[in-house]
Amino acid sequence: MQQQKELLKVTNLKQYFPIKGGILGRTVNHVKAVDDISFTVYEGETLSIVGESGCGKSTTGRAILRLDEPTSGSVDFDGVDLLSLNKKEMNKMRKNLQIIFQDPYASINPRHTVRQILTEAMEIQHVLPKDQRDDRVIELLETVGLGAHQADRLPHEFSGGQRQRIGIARALSVNPKLIIADEAVSALDVSIQAQVLNLLKKLQREFRLTYLFISHDLGVVRHISDRIIVMYLGKIVEIADKKSLFENPQHPYTKSLLSAIPSTNVDHKKERIILKGDVPSPIDPPTGCRFHTRCPFATELCRTETPELRSADNMKDGHQAACHYMEEISANKLQTTV
Ligand code: SF4
Repeated sequence: MQQQKELLKVTNLKQYFPIKGGILGRTVNHVKAVDDISFTVYEGETLSIVGESGCGKSTTGRAILRLDEPTSGSVDFDGVDLLSLNKKEMNKMRKNLQIIFQDPYASINPRHTVRQILTEAMEIQHVLPKDQRDDRVIELLETVGLGAHQADRLPHEFSGGQRQRIGIARALSVNPKLIIADEAVSALDVSIQAQVLNLLKKLQREFRLTYLFISHDLGVVRHISDRIIVMYLGKIVEIADKKSLFENPQHPYTKSLLSAIPSTNVDHKKERIILKGDVPSPIDPPTGCRFHTRCPFATELCRTETPELRSADNMKDGHQAACHYMEEISANKLQTTV
């Protein structure tokens, strides 16, 4: 098998946000939004990050792009250490790494026409000579399933799905290598979601794009991913290719997320795993395994020792989970403690 090229390598990434307090406004604590995560995105693949709200998935995307300055770690993109770049160099580098937000309307000037929005992005990154940009705008609109006649309309004249297509066209306008899609279809109706996901897949094939796809919805992630990372409270708890994750999940948290996806097979009734309690605060995360306050299998060991990501005999290559007891749970040898 041909060796895949590493396009993005994130190592020991931490993103702590200071909490200020007291009269002097000193830092009194931190929100540990992302806490020491490492992963690689290979060229041409879609790696998804999934988890509940507050798990750190969007923060990870923003830290990679340095929209928020990471606390520590390294982010290597195509051989360049992004965290070592100055502001000017980083802005130039953003041509290669684009982001699509949940609500593209929030990140575009509502008084600019689609033509202006797309041209601006090309201007900032010096893409194409000026006299060729108009043709490129039309080409981009057609690429994302819109028409030339829509180039001079304002964003509010479009539906949510069409606005997301404009967001995608804007990202494509600078010929990026990696697109970070942050909850890019979450605000759309299910039928429109499918259309936008299909468009993203088509564009990936056409332009050999690489996606880091961030979503809270495992159903959506299933549609688009090659590999999936599951995050919980700032940590990666499981990483696997899509098939392994759906067919052979190892971490109890992943199992609970999967059990919440409605089954389309009426003969196959899934047992829903309801987790107790809410996600704890990332200001003061639980000791040991961060999932222990909600895990039905937690023991004293889980409360004191942090499990590392590792593989077990029944897992395929590249499939790793962070649980002390995944073998015992898989073999039904561990009793639940609730
Ligand atoms: Fe549950 Fe313990 Fe595994 Fe964490 S390490 S997922 S608490 S069994």
